[in-house]
Amino acid sequence: MPIRNLVTGGAGFIGSHLVEHLVARGESVTVWDDLSTGRVSNLSRVRDDITTIFSDINTDAALLDTVIQRVDVVYHLAAAVGVDLVVNRPIQSMRTNIALAELVIETCAKYRRPMFLASTSEVYGKSTRVPFQEDDDVCYGATTKHRWSYAMSKAIDEFYLLCYSDMFGLPGVAGRLFNTVGPRQVPFHGMVLPRFIHQALTGQPITVYGDGNQRRCFTHVADIVPAIVRLVHCCEASGQIVNLGSSEEISILDLAHRVKDKTKSESPIVHVPYELAYRDGFEDLLRRVPDTSKAKRLVDFKVTRSMDNILCDAITHERAAMSGA
Ligand code: UDP
Repeated sequence: MPIRNLVTGGAGFIGSHLVEHLVARGESVTVWDDLSTGRVSNLSRVRDDITTIFSDINTDAALLDTVIQRVDVVYHLAAAVGVDLVVNRPIQSMRTNIALAELVIETCAKYRRPMFLASTSEVYGKSTRVPFQEDDDVCYGATTKHRWSYAMSKAIDEFYLLCYSDMFGLPGVAGRLFNTVGPRQVPFHGMVLPRFIHQALTGQPITVYGDGNQRRCFTHVADIVPAIVRLVHCCEASGQIVNLGSSEEISILDLAHRVKDKTKSESPIVHVPYELAYRDGFEDLLRRVPDTSKAKRLVDFKVTRSMDNILCDAITHERAAMSGA
């Protein structure tokens, strides 16, 4: 009998790649997504191979209980993602990110289902001690700055997972994802790479926030997904927090130039002050680099896709999406 999986947020960018990967492994998949940011079209390649539930998970705890009881593994990826979304809809985002995660974690603990919780490098906050190790201290700004609600809500999810693991034997692992990118990531919720590509391909100015010296490590979703699956099946990873991401840094200004060159775009590169891009008092992070020695040790995590490869894939996808393909 094939392994039965539940993927919450399975119609989203990372979720849909995970679903395709599980289907390719011959596993059975139920996707549960409220389609707030996910899209049915993301699942077009596997539509006939999966079961879907498109509704708000929060409002149907009884169905969630039934579904989790019937599956072998749970991947919890449903969340409010993207700085734009979190800054503009903080209450809804916190509700989704905390209450829903608690419900999924609690139900997985009840049935002892192995689960993966998608967390984020945002949890490190504005710590400047790179590379970040999972046990490092975290450092957040004032609660008056909405951005930190995302970091704190994901940190609370991690606390839930660790506590349920310690106290009730939940076989759960959380992956802190560092700027995962690739085909199907949409330009609408603030994520920089799809935004730059969309701007370049439509001749709009490429908007670099601040001076563009802030740096990030972008990781192709195709490198992240197999690691997620290996982690949830790795006994030693149970009860652990694990960084997943590339260590290759690029400044946002360099990224803008690389996108402009690769797309042969005429778009100007413009600098936008942070207070115009987000709102007053927004704090950006200068660097975010993962230490991935734990992921390497546990599941032999390797990054195989270069920045060039990432750019080619993401540009090809956006061109196809714009032409309606
Ligand atoms: N950014 C930018 N222009 C944009 C969107 C984002 O310069 O149009 C910057 C953003 O301020 C941040 C970086 O790109 O410094 C990465 O932003 P993203 O929201 O993709 O990820 P995160 O901030 O979570 O790393």
